Amino acid sequence: MDEIKTFADLDLSPEVMDALKKMGVKRPTTIQQKAIPLMMDNVSVIAKAPTGTGKTFAFGIPILEYLNLDSKLVQALILCPTRELALQITTELKGLAKYIKGFRAAALIGGQSMRLQAEKCQKKPQVIVATPGRLIDMVQRKLVDISDIYTLVLDEADEMLKMGFINDIRKIMAMTPKDKQIALFSATMPREIQDITWQFMQDAAEIDVMPKAEDHPDIDQYVVDCPEKDKLKTIVRIMAKEDLTKVIVFCNTKVTTSKVGEMLTAAGISARVLHGDIGQGTRNKVMDQYRAGKFDVLVATDVVARGIDVDDIEAIFNYDIPKENELYLHRIGRTARAGKSGKAFSLVAYLDRPRMEEIIRYTKIDPVPYEV
Ligand code: ADP
Ligand code: MG
Repeated sequence: MDEIKTFADLDLSPEVMDALKKMGVKRPTTIQQKAIPLMMDNVSVIAKAPTGTGKTFAFGIPILEYLNLDSKLVQALILCPTRELALQITTELKGLAKYIKGFRAAALIGGQSMRLQAEKCQKKPQVIVATPGRLIDMVQRKLVDISDIYTLVLDEADEMLKMGFINDIRKIMAMTPKDKQIALFSATMPREIQDITWQFMQDAAEIDVMPKAEDHPDIDQYVVDCPEKDKLKTIVRIMAKEDLTKVIVFCNTKVTTSKVGEMLTAAGISARVLHGDIGQGTRNKVMDQYRAGKFDVLVATDVVARGIDVDDIEAIFNYDIPKENELYLHRIGRTARAGKSGKAFSLVAYLDRPRMEEIIRYTKIDPVPYEV
């Protein structure tokens, strides 16, 4: 197979090409390059790819390409763990289908009136995006029929299993045609997912996408040259200039986080510190306050970065340049989540330069110099 580099190589319909153009989407991400041709060939896929690398279009585009718009049957079912995600996927699909006349999608999620959702189903959507519990409920009440679908997507499969949806997924497998295409997307592949794939997806193609900075299309990455002693001042200035009120400042050590936290407070910026020595109870409390916007800056070490799943973080700062290349990707992945864009600023002092250059080589990013 020739290498795919552009959306044109993927042989998409003019309607989808126009929508992508309209959205300013130029180059397919790695997961899109790999998953779209397979799914358009009716192959089932088990795809592991980091968060924020464009998985929604990876399954959304192939689905839109084969839909029979004249049919009144549900043809594709997308399962995901949360209501927010279901709504977000539905919105993204509608954007992608902007020029496809007669496209209908519905989100079926808990917490919304069943009557309202039954009305949505009467409009005969070809695509349903749902959380598992609500979907099963509606199928059992015969408010929706999923017995003719071509494609079942399990999005964020690891999260769905973590939330205890395993039995629901098994039930939905049984409610849908045996020979359907299944596309499973996940950021991680824990044991329980392997059980599912072994049971239901023996013929699937496996895709494993390694973290790459070029696959984070929505993060603007900058390097800021500044002397070590001016790093804090520089962060404060950038926050004012960019009007940022929800950011993370990453440091390499606990000692530095405490120092930076104090300096920010002294500079009149509301900040809290999180590192590995802070107990889980306090951590949860700090995270709740951060989510609720009670303070602007979270100062953190990498140890706690993994647990930070907040959707509207506007930017991250590397106060210290991370000691490992991989950590750079984990850090920037905290921003630009849930369909939002984000910024990453790396503060590079003279002694940081070799480390930053190594990260750039390894991650193949192309950060832009930032003038404060
Ligand atoms: P994931 O599901 O892998 O976490 P998403 O599908 O939510 O990622 O995509 C993250 C963001 O990137 C979304 O805002 C989406 O619109 C955007 N996006 C997706 N594919 C591309 C692309 N090829 N080029 C630019 N932006 C893209
Ligand atoms: Mg996703």
